[in-house]
Amino acid sequence: MSNTENNSSSGLRRPELWAIPQHNITATALDAKAEVLYERLKTIAAEHQDVRFATSLAAEDMVVTDAIVKSGAKISLFTLATGRLHQETIEMTAQVQKHYGVSIASVAPEAGDVDAFIAQYGLNGFYDTEEAKKACCGARKIKPLNKALVGADAWLTGQRREQAVTRSDLPLRELDDARNIAKYNPLFDWTEPEVWAYLQGKQVPIHPLHFQGYPSIGCEPCTRAVKAGEDIRAGRWWWLQKDSKECGLHVK
Ligand code: SF4
Repeated sequence: MSNTENNSSSGLRRPELWAIPQHNITATALDAKAEVLYERLKTIAAEHQDVRFATSLAAEDMVVTDAIVKSGAKISLFTLATGRLHQETIEMTAQVQKHYGVSIASVAPEAGDVDAFIAQYGLNGFYDTEEAKKACCGARKIKPLNKALVGADAWLTGQRREQAVTRSDLPLRELDDARNIAKYNPLFDWTEPEVWAYLQGKQVPIHPLHFQGYPSIGCEPCTRAVKAGEDIRAGRWWWLQKDSKECGLHVK
């Protein structure tokens, strides 16, 4: 179904939104790619004592979640419940736990940190300055991430190289300097069509916002749908430049 819609009252035509990409990846090629991923996850789990995966419930993270379950790799899951997520993301978390029979730990910010941010910058002060955006992500994401990783010796992300200029040299394994533990990006060499081929070919639950023009999903006030042909991370902190669209979770 096309995302293009007519606005009948004004006669204006809304811009066509990003849509889930078509692909021509064969089942055999997909299975081969998936097998490499499952082996990666098993190797990572075997090399560490306590591996944790931070999931946002968006497309890439659902590939990793499905692969963790199918590979049997001993990797636990958590999500950062920032307090500013879409309702759809909260519902998706419950759905995924039920679908796979897994537990996703929900890690929330400290109330005092959120209150301090709001007192200094205002609830949506992140729109005004880079400093405020960093402070908000610091309180709602970075500190909770630090808490979620206490005791872990490795963690996983769903990042891919081709997602952004800031990720173009992403390796499979890197050192998380901030926490002095290993950090893995098992989808580092995956393409967008491969991600969607996996989700559709393996009947993986898909976040509902992906059907509404959102290729990337984060906090509600900082994420919006993108137009067809736009950069897939254009909807994240859309008021910022392309090279500063990170929240600090993945900054070295
Ligand atoms: S993404 Fe936006 S709302 Fe979420 S923590 Fe960062 S600045 Fe705050």
